[in-house]
Amino acid sequence: MKKYDAIVIGSGIGGLAAALQMAHSGRKTVVLEKNHLFGGRLSSYKKEGFTLDIGVHVISRGAKGPATQCLARCGIENALKFTNIRPIVCFEGKTFKFPHDLKDMVPAEDFEALMKFMRDAKSFTQEEIAELDKITEKELLSRYTANETLHTCVSRIGSVYCALPSWLESAGEFVRCLTWEAEAKSSGYPMGGCISITNAYIDGIKKFGGEVLNNMPVERIIVENNRAVGVIAGGQEYRADIIASNADIRNTVLKLAGAAHFPPDYVEYVSKLTYSWAGPVMRIALDQPITDIKMLSQFGEIGQEQYYEKIRRGVMPKYLNIFLVVPSNFDPETAPPGRQLIAVATPLPTDTPTELTPKIQEAVLNTVETFVPELRKHIMWIDSMDIQAMAAIAGEDGCVIGVGQTPGQTGADRPKIKTPLAGLYIVGGEAGGSGVGIENSINSAMNFFDLLNN
Ligand SMILES: Cc1cc2nc3c(=O)[nH]c(=O)nc-3n(C[C@H](O)[C@H](O)[C@H](O)COP(=O)(O)OP(=O)(O)OC[C@H]3O[C@@H](n4cnc5c(N)ncnc54)[C@H](O)[C@@H]3O)c2cc1C
Repeated sequence: MKKYDAIVIGSGIGGLAAALQMAHSGRKTVVLEKNHLFGGRLSSYKKEGFTLDIGVHVISRGAKGPATQCLARCGIENALKFTNIRPIVCFEGKTFKFPHDLKDMVPAEDFEALMKFMRDAKSFTQEEIAELDKITEKELLSRYTANETLHTCVSRIGSVYCALPSWLESAGEFVRCLTWEAEAKSSGYPMGGCISITNAYIDGIKKFGGEVLNNMPVERIIVENNRAVGVIAGGQEYRADIIASNADIRNTVLKLAGAAHFPPDYVEYVSKLTYSWAGPVMRIALDQPITDIKMLSQFGEIGQEQYYEKIRRGVMPKYLNIFLVVPSNFDPETAPPGRQLIAVATPLPTDTPTELTPKIQEAVLNTVETFVPELRKHIMWIDSMDIQAMAAIAGEDGCVIGVGQTPGQTGADRPKIKTPLAGLYIVGGEAGGSGVGIENSINSAMNFFDLLNN
């Protein structure tokens, strides 16, 4: 039996951020990761000299956001370097400046309504934002305008923040993400690729005496006298007073600990939580540099509900919603000399039928070709990760974030970090956080640590 002060299940950025703070506070900490790779959705791997990120990332507040703040809490400065970047936004294949280009695309009164919506969004009080956690982004915008073009544009922004369309995303969370990003004006991409964030946290944990172990799936949480007291991983028993799970909340409660250890209403609540949408990824290795694009967000077409309904029927729209990053244009070391890498993701519901994958991938390539016309002549190989492959790495049906930021699942209604089982906490995209993707998970870990010390 191995004895620690704290065990973290999973090395996603939420788990690592929790572990770093605990190790820094002098607690003997171990992180147990089921996969060979550390970092969960914020991981990367090497293939023929290319560095392939699991996700396709822009960090909402870059150097001014939680990724840096949490390291700074632990006295770690200058471990991350960000290139400031905002994606080129394209609408139906053409460069598009939001909101200004809309002036000529919609009636004047609708444009004015959009501008008021944007102004209001940046000036809501905390109490008003808490109220907005109860409605969707679409419901909020509908208070200002019914114009479908405007709804399409605003839905796309929300989908980049929370991997949910406007009719599912919480208006409160949309407003938080929008205002925090607008105030910071520091969206960025980490030098060395996204893995550099994961590595900075792992280095920190080790510096403070913590351990980070891979190929170590936690099979069970040990419960004694109504308290989580340890875990079984790799046939070994690990004991600690604090168990922080960065794994799927449903899996943690229902399988790893077991429903019998929780009140029935909590089990029912956890069982009914819903996840964000997925973002299957294609990583395209090119035999030479053919584009100057660094980051691009394309959306279309007008009427996003019909867009997704069409895809589900197997009818591919001319332009797919895509988020495209060319990591080697930020950091040449992410591709071998003389080569280029394009990574592209497209948001989709997690239950998109698997048999549509080839059609969707072809439509993604067609959309990328709009911006990189020489694409197909220079492809060496494509490394694709569909929804099922993402689920195998990160669980949760292959979703992008974790528990979806929908009404009833954000703000005060976000699942609680402290579970009803003494000693067991949930950290990361599953509980207690707020904000965009990795910042949501790191916020959760900072809230977890504050809770532990109060
Ligand atoms: C395609 C794509 C694009 C994205 N784009 C962005 C973006 O632009 N900006 C942004 O901020 N975010 C983005 N994200 C989201 C971001 O990557 C996630 O929100 C964040 O990384 C989630 O971190 P986490 O710690 O909450 O969970 P995860 O990364 O899912 O980590 C959970 C970890 O727990 C481990 N685990 C699970 N069960 C067990 C077990 N039983 N035993 C041991 N270990 C276990 C898993 O293997 C995993 O490593 C994107 C994600 C994807 C997939």
